[in-house]
Amino acid sequence: MTGDRMMLDGSRPFQERVRHLRDAWFRDGRGRAFLVTGRALFAVYCWSLNYKIHDPMTPAYDADLAEFVAASYELNGGSVGWTAMLNRREVCSTCHDWYRLENLGICTGCMRYTCYGCGDHERCVGELL
Ligand SMILES: [Zn+2]
Ligand SMILES: [Zn+2]
Repeated sequence: MTGDRMMLDGSRPFQERVRHLRDAWFRDGRGRAFLVTGRALFAVYCWSLNYKIHDPMTPAYDADLAEFVAASYELNGGSVGWTAMLNRREVCSTCHDWYRLENLGICTGCMRYTCYGCGDHERCVGELL
């Protein structure tokens, strides 16, 4: 999907990519093309929880963005799909060990999975979600 490709392209800062996709999604009439799935969804959803974009009491609150994230989450099967995703095993890009996704983070710079033992990528400008 277009949304995934745009989200996984780490050449621009993470928040800029997210906001760009939000705008593209609204312009496109809220179709599927700009929603995110898989690894891109994992990053966007974790980020949205960390920054509490759904909460009107926080500075990062963004109703349109919350709607975009919720639509992507539903496309992935809602809470059932999310739980299934967290139970899948993925490999840490640094130590190459396998973990359940719930025990992995993702680097917002290179968008690769990283275990918390390995931590932040020194050469990436992103943060570990
Ligand atoms: Zn690791
Ligand atoms: Zn990285």
